[in-house]
Formats: sequence, structure tokens, C-alpha cells
Amino acid sequence: MRKVHKALFCCGSRPELIKISPIYHHLKTIAEIAPFLCITGQQKDLLTPHLENLEITPDFQLDVMRKGQSLDQLMERLFVQLPDIFDECQPDIVIIQGDTASALASAVIAHKKNLPIAHIEAGLRTYDKSSPFPEEIYRQNISALTKWHFCPTEMTRENLLRENVTEDHIFVTGNTSVDMILATYQKTKSIDYSISLPRKGTNPYFLITLHRRESQGAPLIRIANSLLDFAKSRPEFDFILPLHPNPATSHMIKHLLGAQKNIYLITPLPYPQFVHLMANAFAIITDSGGIQEEAPSLNTPVIVVRNTTERTEGIESGCLRLAGTSKDSILYELNLLIDDKTHYKKMQQAPNPFGDGRAASRIAAHLKNILERNLEPPWKI
Ligand code: UDP
Repeated sequence: MRKVHKALFCCGSRPELIKISPIYHHLKTIAEIAPFLCITGQQKDLLTPHLENLEITPDFQLDVMRKGQSLDQLMERLFVQLPDIFDECQPDIVIIQGDTASALASAVIAHKKNLPIAHIEAGLRTYDKSSPFPEEIYRQNISALTKWHFCPTEMTRENLLRENVTEDHIFVTGNTSVDMILATYQKTKSIDYSISLPRKGTNPYFLITLHRRESQGAPLIRIANSLLDFAKSRPEFDFILPLHPNPATSHMIKHLLGAQKNIYLITPLPYPQFVHLMANAFAIITDSGGIQEEAPSLNTPVIVVRNTTERTEGIESGCLRLAGTSKDSILYELNLLIDDKTHYKKMQQAPNPFGDGRAASRIAAHLKNILERNLEPPWKI
């Protein structure tokens, strides 16, 4: 009888779930692999509503979320609760995505239990330990513990090679976020995912998301004030901002932007509705990582309100612009989009460097080779 290999996915945040979803579904179609999913509960409120849309039922569900807890308390709960899941599941491989606390804790526990780790979205770096914080620190440590590294781009592969990761253990696959955005956008053509907003007319709109920990405090106040000035100066545009539930950002944003007529603060959206909004936006203003990868596939320009990005491929390609967090630079980038039509078109037409929509099938094929044949690479997919 053939052995069925157990692959345990561990994730805790909304973007992790969205990005592992196509791999999980691919593995479900492979008879020799049984995927299991552990949801840590790190972003319980944000993640749970997406399970139904993504047609995923977790096998294990932890409860690490507490209101107002520190990063250390979160990490402590993960280290207390995760080991039992590993013991119960007895996986042959542990699959983690990105750079969250859930991913790092899973990597440390897998390592302690002598289990091989497959890291999806490997090799992203700013080499600035304070930005993004704590993600840059987490992902550097995850790479140190990982056996199989699935890089979205050539540049991320080169980062790992510079860190002396074994070449044969790195696969460049594209980012699964592009698989998701392309498949979901296709659906938005036949299903109506529009949302009703209290907007009058059909003004073009900017879509905004802000949530990064390192933006909290003075940078967030500067960003929000820049947006307020811009929204006041451009009454012919609307501004739609789904609020991240993190109170540290949402309270400040409500306080600074809540009264402006053409700014709409709304609750977080289900993924298909959010994709619909991204596809129809004039442009996106964001500090999100995943949105930088997704929007270029929808030909929507992205202004990144951060001082650094680990997705520099998008800057080079021309679909992203790094505006920083100062008022002058943000207003410059936003006004340029409207005032310079050639610049806007160039951004719209820049190719998406983060993937071609087939990352998940490549990753699944490599995982099958790793698990089933136990071959040492290189092999051909
Ligand atoms: N997203 C969503 N609904 C929303 C806002 C974002 O489904 O209201 C999706 C978005 O398309 C992307 C992911 O959430 O796939 C990005 O999450 P976030 O910005 O919180 O995290 P990051 O990517 O910065 O880690």
C-alpha cells in the first residue's frame, strides 16, 4: 500500500490563509498527500470570515488571540498551544507562509521536533530590522530553520543565495497571491461582488488600507493628514478605506479621517468584494504587503506609504511607487497620478513581476517530489 504523506499547514493571519489556499486545494487533489490545516487564531476576527469563501475547513484551531496582547504574549501562547497539534497530527512536513508570529513559532517547533519545513514566500528582505517590524526579524529566522524555500521571484532567490542557503533547496515559483487574484478576478466577471456604499454618484475612487505596526504613531498621523489634505483638494474623487481591526490604527484613522465627506471608512471586506474594489479603483494607497503583489494583475497603480518595501521588483517594473511617509512625498505621488496621464498609464500597464498564476501548481509538484520520492533535487517540473 502507498504511504500517504501528511503535510501540516500552520497559519494565523488573513494574508497567510489567502496565500496558502491554492496550495492546500492543489494538494487535496494529490492522492499521496494529505494536507492538514492548523489555524492559530492570531487574527481570528479577520481570518475566520474568509474560510467559507476559500472553501477551507481547518483540522485544528487554536485560541491565541487576546485583546491588546503584546507580541511576546502572542508568541508565548503559540509556543504553549502549537506543540500538541504537531504531536496529534504527526506530519511528514510543515508548511508555513510568510513572516508572521504564527509562522515563526511553527518553524521553531517543527525544528525542535526534527520535521522538515517548507517555507512559502521565502527570501523577502528589506535588511532593515525595524521595517517591517517584526516581520523582517521573523522571516530571517524562519529562513534559518527552513529546509525547502519557495521563492516568489528571482530576486528573493538571490537574497537566500547570499545568505548561503543551499541552491538545490530553493525553488522560484511565483507568489500564490497572483494565482488567487487572477482566479478571483475571473469570477468577478460573472458574479456581482459589488458592495453598497453610502456614496453619491459614480466618482472614481482611491482604495486605501493601512495597518502596519511600524506606521503606528507619528508616521500614521502624517499619512492620515496627507490623505485628508488630498481628499479635501480632490472632491471629484472618493476614498474608500476598509479599516483593519487593530485598534491602534483604526481609532486614529477614525479620529483623523472620519468626518471628511468623500472618505468612506468601512469594515474589512470578504476577499472577492475586496478584489472587485481593487480592480475598479483609480489607484490604491497602502502599506500592505499582499496588495502590492495583487493590484498589478488588475492594472491598478499602487502608492506604497512605507519607507521601505521588500517587493522592489514592483518598483522596478513600474507598477508600484514608494511614497514614504512624509506629507510632501505622499502628496507628490498622489497628485502625479492624476495630473500626469502618461505616468498613470505607464503604471497601469507595467507587468506584474510577482507571478503568473501558476505558483501553487509548481509548489504542489515540488512538494510531491519531496514527500513521495524523497529525491534530492534538482528535478524538472
Ligand atoms: N484583503 C481582504 N479584505 C480587505 C482588505 C484586504 O480580503 O478588506 C486581502 C487583500 O486582498 C490581501 C490581504 O487581505 O490578499 C492583505 O492583507 P493585509 O494587508 O492585512 O496583510 P499583509 O499583506 O500586509 O501581510
